[in-house]
Amino acid sequence: MTAQALANAAYVVAALLFVMSLAGLSKHETGRTGIRYGIAGMAIAIAVTVWLSLSGSWTESTLLGVGLLVAALIVGAVIGLWRAKVVAMTGMPELIALFHSFVGLAAVLVGWNGALHAKELSAELAGVHSAEVFIGVFIGAVTFTGSIVAYLKLSAKMSSKPLILPGRNILNLLALLGFVVLTVAYVITPVLGLLIAVTILALALGWHLVASIGGGDMPVVVSMLNSYSGWAAAATGFLLGNDLLIVTGALVGSSGAYLSYIMCRAMNRSFISVIFGGYGIEAPSESDEEVGEHTETDAASVAELLSNAKTVVITPGYGMAVAQAQYPVAELAKKLREKGVEVRFGIHPVAGRLPGHMNVLLAEAKVPYDIVLEMDEINEDLASTNVVLVIGANDTVNPAATENPSSPIAGMPVLKVWEAENVIVFKRSMASGYAGVANPLFYKPNAKMLFGDAKEKVNDILKAL
Ligand code: NDP
Repeated sequence: MTAQALANAAYVVAALLFVMSLAGLSKHETGRTGIRYGIAGMAIAIAVTVWLSLSGSWTESTLLGVGLLVAALIVGAVIGLWRAKVVAMTGMPELIALFHSFVGLAAVLVGWNGALHAKELSAELAGVHSAEVFIGVFIGAVTFTGSIVAYLKLSAKMSSKPLILPGRNILNLLALLGFVVLTVAYVITPVLGLLIAVTILALALGWHLVASIGGGDMPVVVSMLNSYSGWAAAATGFLLGNDLLIVTGALVGSSGAYLSYIMCRAMNRSFISVIFGGYGIEAPSESDEEVGEHTETDAASVAELLSNAKTVVITPGYGMAVAQAQYPVAELAKKLREKGVEVRFGIHPVAGRLPGHMNVLLAEAKVPYDIVLEMDEINEDLASTNVVLVIGANDTVNPAATENPSSPIAGMPVLKVWEAENVIVFKRSMASGYAGVANPLFYKPNAKMLFGDAKEKVNDILKAL
C-alpha cells in the first residue's frame, strides 16, 4: 500500500470521528464524549499529514517544508493553548469569530498560492483550477473580513447598530454579479489583475454584509460565519487535493448553515435576509427614551418574596455570564427547592453571546438538566408563576418584541416574564441590552429593579434567606 493510500484510509477514520463528534455534541450528556472524538480525529489528521510530508524522498525542499510545518504547528499550538486558557467565558464568542477569520485568511492564502504556483495543466483542467482558486479566494475573503467585523461588534470595539448604506441591497447584488463576471473572465484568461480585483471585492463584501446586520441578529451571523469558514476550508481542500479537508469543511459548512437556520427560526428572522446582510430590514426607528417610572427593590425584600413563593422561574442572560453568577444562582435554586418552592430555569435560544451559553454555565454550576427548560417549554407557564428572577437578561425578555411593531427586535420570540405575578430584574443600571433597544419591562407595575452586580446581589439574597 502506498503512503497516500494509507493516509487516505486514516483520513476516512478521522472524518468518521468528526461525524461522531457532531453527533455527541447534540446532547448535554454526550457532549464531553463528542469533544473527545473531535480531538482524536484532529490528532489523527495532523499526525497523518505530517507523516505524509515526511514519507516521500527527501530533497532540500522537503526539509524546508517540514521545518515550516513544525514551526507553524508549534506557534499555532502555543497561541491556541494560551488564548483558550486565558479567555473568559464571556470572551468566547469574539475568540470564535477571530478563529473563523483565520480560516478565511488561510483559504485566501492557499488560493493565491494555487494561482501563483499553478502547475502545468491541460486547458480543461486549468479552467477548473482557475475556478477553484477564485471560489476559494472569494469565500475566504468574505469570511475573513466578515469575521473581523463580527469580532469587533461582539467585543464592543464597534457599534452593534446596523450600518445602513443607501442602496445596500443593490451593492451586495452588484458585488455578487461582479464575482460571477470576474470568475468567467479569469477562467478564460487567468491574469493576476482579476485575482486582485476579486480579493478586494470579496473583502469589501464580507465587511459590508456583517456591518449591515444589527446587534439582535448577531447570533445568526456568528453561526453563518462558522458555516462560511467550513465552505472556505472545503474550497481549500479542493485546491490542495485533500479529501479530509473537503469532508471536514463540508461538515462545518452544512452544520453551521443548519444551526443558522434553526436560530433564524427561533428568532423569527428570515434566513435569506440575514445571509444577504439584513436584506429587507429597515433602519430602526425607535429612540432610547424612558417610557415611565421604574421601581427599585433590595435583596432582603426579594428574599422575603421568594420565601413566600410557590413557583419561581429564573431567566438568565448575558449579565449572569459577566458576573459569573451561575454558582450562587445554582445555590439559590437548591436552597429554594429544599424549602419546597418549585424552581425552574427558562432559557432563551439566543441568551448570552453563544448558542447554548446559558446551558453551559448552568451545567458548570451543576444545576440539574431536568429543571432547565427551553423558552417554548416554559413560556406558557410564566403567567401562573409567582416570581420570575431575570438575572442579567435584557433583549431576551423585552416585551417590545411583541408589543411594538416598529422595534428593531419586533417579531423575535421572547420569554414573556412580564406575565408573571412579580418580576425582579437583576442588572447594574437602566442600560439597554446587546441590541441597543430600550426595555419597557423595567417600567411594568409588577417589575422591580435590583441594581448591582448579579453575583453580589444573589449572594446577598442567599444570606438574607
Ligand atoms: P443582553 O445582552 O440583552 O443584556 C445583558 C444585560 O446584562 C445588560 O442589560 C446588562 O445591564 C446586564 N449585565 C451586564 N453585566 C452585569 C453584571 N455584572 N451583573 C448584572 N447584570 C449585568 O442579554 P440577553 O442574554 O438577554 O440577550 C442576548 C443578546 O445578545 C441578544 O440581543 C442576542 O441576539 C445577542 N447575541 C447572542 C448571541 C448568542 O449566540 N447567544 C451571539 C451574539 C449576540 P447593565 O449594564 O445595566 O448591568
